[in-house]
Amino acid sequence: MKELSEEQFQRYARHLILDEVGEEGQDKLLSAKVLCVGAGGLGSPVAVYLAAAGIGTIGIIDDDIVDLSNLQRQIIHATSKIGAPKVDSARETLSQINPTINVRTYKQRLTAANIQEIIREYDLIVDGSDNFETRYLINDAAYLNGKIVVSGALLRFEGQLTTFRSGLKSKRDEPCYRCLFPNAPSANSSNRCEDVGILGSVAGVIGTLQATEVLKEIIGLGETMSGKLLIFDAMNMQFRKIRFKRRLDCVLCGDASSIKDIT
Ligand code: ZN
Repeated sequence: MKELSEEQFQRYARHLILDEVGEEGQDKLLSAKVLCVGAGGLGSPVAVYLAAAGIGTIGIIDDDIVDLSNLQRQIIHATSKIGAPKVDSARETLSQINPTINVRTYKQRLTAANIQEIIREYDLIVDGSDNFETRYLINDAAYLNGKIVVSGALLRFEGQLTTFRSGLKSKRDEPCYRCLFPNAPSANSSNRCEDVGILGSVAGVIGTLQATEVLKEIIGLGETMSGKLLIFDAMNMQFRKIRFKRRLDCVLCGDASSIKDIT
């Protein structure tokens, strides 16, 4: 374990005072490498909280530029950044919050062609993407490369959160994203924010919960969200938790899976 500097003692004082975190937990955060897929509604609060918490290396991948219509919920970006690449805007905000961490940016779309090379560098992936194609891509690559995924999703006044860690050899009996959603909805039933709308702060609720689960997974705190889907309903201010299991017939992690390398 590395000795914390005087600056780090002050910066992370409210973590260090928690017996369950302490210097050992903070050291785990400082050594951790987390990739945020998307610097949008979910990625904004996730990256801000992870940077503030002292995650040593944060990767951000997004090929988009900041648009005026993003600012209603994507709190990492400012009006002055309209027209700038989201990854550049995000990096600047994070460096203001915590200049002592590493931020790596990828101004590109995550695809089957680049995902292996990118996620290899990280321990944990935060899925803040807005489409099923990317979610399956992340799930499959994480499973095959031994990475944990903390997944969030948004829809109008609702949000969802779960964690997948069946990529870890010791967690092979836990479910993956394809166990939860074996089939993607048809192309015309789009659930993207830009098509159906989203109450801005709902993105903040789910993104902040994702950041919390990332910190818990890295430090090894409390109960995992693996095998559990949290559904947040802002209209009725209700949280429901549904349990789900690995599907024996899952095309990725099931007993008869023939998929060896689909990325
Ligand atoms: Zn599965």
